[in-house]
Amino acid sequence: MHDLVIRNGTIIDGTGASRFAGDLAIDGGKIAGVGGKAGAGRREIDASGLLVAPGWVDIHTHYDGQVAWDPYLSPSSWHGVTTLVMGNCGVGFAPVRRGKEAFLISMMDGVEDIPTATLTAGIDFLWESFPEYLDALGGMKRVLDIGAHVPHCAVRAYVMGERGAANEPATADDIAQMAAIVREGVTAGALGVSTSRTLVHRTRDKAYVPGTFAALDEMIGIGRGLGEAGHGVFEIISDLDGPDADLTWMAKLSAETQRPISLAALISRRSGMKMWQVLDFIRQQNQQGARMVAQVAARPAASLMSLHSSLHPFSTHRSYRQIMAGLNFDERLARLRDPDVRAQILNDQPAVREEQTLAMVSHFQHHFALGDPPDYEPSAERSILAQARAAGRTPQEVAYDTLIERDGRGIIYMPLAYKNYSFDSILPQLTDSATVLSLSDGGAHCGVICDASMPTYLLTHWVRDRNRGERLPLELAIKRQTSDTAALYGLRDRGTLTLGLKADFNLIDFNNLRLHPPEMVFDLPADGRRFIQRVDGYRYTIVNGEVTFEDGEPTGAMPGKVVRGPQAARL
Ligand SMILES: [Zn+2]
Repeated sequence: MHDLVIRNGTIIDGTGASRFAGDLAIDGGKIAGVGGKAGAGRREIDASGLLVAPGWVDIHTHYDGQVAWDPYLSPSSWHGVTTLVMGNCGVGFAPVRRGKEAFLISMMDGVEDIPTATLTAGIDFLWESFPEYLDALGGMKRVLDIGAHVPHCAVRAYVMGERGAANEPATADDIAQMAAIVREGVTAGALGVSTSRTLVHRTRDKAYVPGTFAALDEMIGIGRGLGEAGHGVFEIISDLDGPDADLTWMAKLSAETQRPISLAALISRRSGMKMWQVLDFIRQQNQQGARMVAQVAARPAASLMSLHSSLHPFSTHRSYRQIMAGLNFDERLARLRDPDVRAQILNDQPAVREEQTLAMVSHFQHHFALGDPPDYEPSAERSILAQARAAGRTPQEVAYDTLIERDGRGIIYMPLAYKNYSFDSILPQLTDSATVLSLSDGGAHCGVICDASMPTYLLTHWVRDRNRGERLPLELAIKRQTSDTAALYGLRDRGTLTLGLKADFNLIDFNNLRLHPPEMVFDLPADGRRFIQRVDGYRYTIVNGEVTFEDGEPTGAMPGKVVRGPQAARL
């Protein structure tokens, strides 16, 4: 008698192989049979008409704070994610000296837009070292598996104190200490080390995060610390305008240490690089012994503007600020519906000097109403500017009405890089051997972004709904977000539906898989706000053989563990 049997599903095993019909049997949290007809199970689930696919392995999240208070790690868990990796981009909460926690919180707030009050209220710092941090996480219950990087910014601040925070150069002794901490963390089970070399990442006080300008000897020191541990990924976010565009030394370091480098390339204008050049470089270097990969996203980062956001096309208007001051949300909405108020606000101008902010609130050719269902790849005619022209209205009027629709929950979508109003240029990146699917940023950018749904979007948009160009084969899309992401971190015990592997999988009603529009909720500790995004169509999510969600409702099962280091395929 099996513990669990999934009957008559369409199995997509995550290896890229073609789908096949059959049963899945689970014993002791592992896969005990794939395909064909399984014997009886203590519990049986009829999966007729459903896809049976490995759970998503999401390697780029920032749940470092949320893990301390939310066993569900929503919204990622709602979207079928069964393993997530956090501590990306150099930011995280260990190691930390007693009394210095506020600095790490300020960094997470500034870089990832997770409110300081939320992090302060939500995290009980029971650790100092990185191994202690992993132990503390291991003592908490949760619904899915998590893994973490040792964050360089925290390590630098820990070792160098104020000098580290102020981005002073590290001495040879500092570097040796940082390398030792990385080695210790990775040996204890961290899945790698991460660092930030982008000018975009600042603390709440607008200071560059520690290590932004770290010299090569520091980067190489840390990389060698990782190499000595013998496993783990070096995750780097970079503008690619450092020495050697940050590329040549990465390739050398990766070849020398044989540790993979996972690059989130922001590609600033100063660097003059193009994504295809980065991918060419990586392919070339990998042929010569490097192990590099570029992180790519299923859709570009986008700002979501709503009446709950700190920035939207009218939020800087003096009239708007005056009229809205002191009102709660319902009162604000009622006032916005008043024709006199509307006229007054529409006749006013943004009161912004900063060029970039002004562009964000007034470039209506890059603004779109994100409706229900949300369309993340709208054509040029869907822009608020084009819609206004077609209707003989001003773009401000259209933007105003977009924000107050759906009882004030309307959203203006502003993709940050949207070449030719199309995702055609993204498509080849999604399947390139030099890339890995990443950048969902789950748990982060709470007030402006919600991309934790990216794995779902991969299926709804890239496999099923896209009608403005090529789509992806289902089997390939699933492989990219399961076994390929798991393999980068050496997690060979998951990511495919193979005999002996971890029973982490989803039963998906593919035809009815549906993303809801993002919505702002105030459910973080200290009433912090965040965008979430709900989804229909994940009928069951199973982690370690236990059903964790059934039709979107948690079952209460908490089989999640802290993943410590690479995992062998237990065959
Ligand atoms: Zn990140």
